[in-house]
Amino acid sequence: MPVNPSDPEKEYFLKLELEKLRKLQQESRAKMKEESRKKLKELHWMNCPKCGMELKEVEYQTIKVDYCASCGGSWFDAGEIEQLLKLDEGQGLLGKFLKVFKS
Ligand SMILES: [Zn+2]
Repeated sequence: MPVNPSDPEKEYFLKLELEKLRKLQQESRAKMKEESRKKLKELHWMNCPKCGMELKEVEYQTIKVDYCASCGGSWFDAGEIEQLLKLDEGQGLLGKFLKVFKS
């Protein structure tokens, strides 16, 4: 869902939606048995969530990006976007990242 960052109302509702999704996910995880979760993780670990092909870990700055050479998707683990923004300090790292990974 694209978000216009200048629209605080849309951001507010997106935050509510994300919170709701996290809560539903927590409930679902709680219901699912440990064994099933383990199998799911083994099945999907380091596979692209969009096309299913194998992801490769590529280091960019100090961040390990999970990259899909098949569809060109780049995936960040929790907290890595924040790390990238922290490293950025006005250097335009996200723009540079896109030039490297989307060429
Ligand atoms: Zn892919």
